[in-house]
Amino acid sequence: MTPHPIAIEQHSQQRGRCRSCDAPIVWAVTVPNARRMPFNDPVILSPVMDPREGVVLVDMDRTTSHFATCPDAARWRRNKAPQGARVR
Ligand SMILES: [Zn+2]
Repeated sequence: MTPHPIAIEQHSQQRGRCRSCDAPIVWAVTVPNARRMPFNDPVILSPVMDPREGVVLVDMDRTTSHFATCPDAARWRRNKAPQGARVR
């Protein structure tokens, strides 16, 4: 099965490092839900053009989501604790 490409805003790519595992990642804003999503560096864009202006497609055959590979991915979800969480 071929994974679907992910649509992102063309100029939203931003290099960074994972706060959990320090891997080099690229943040991009997904379309249409405008969520910031971390990909493993490098992001490979699909040669297929998206009809929407300013939107490009990430080739998910050759790019992986950092959510899928981060050794600390489970902790990411738990970190979404409410502000002012109590100190242990
Ligand atoms: Zn990570």
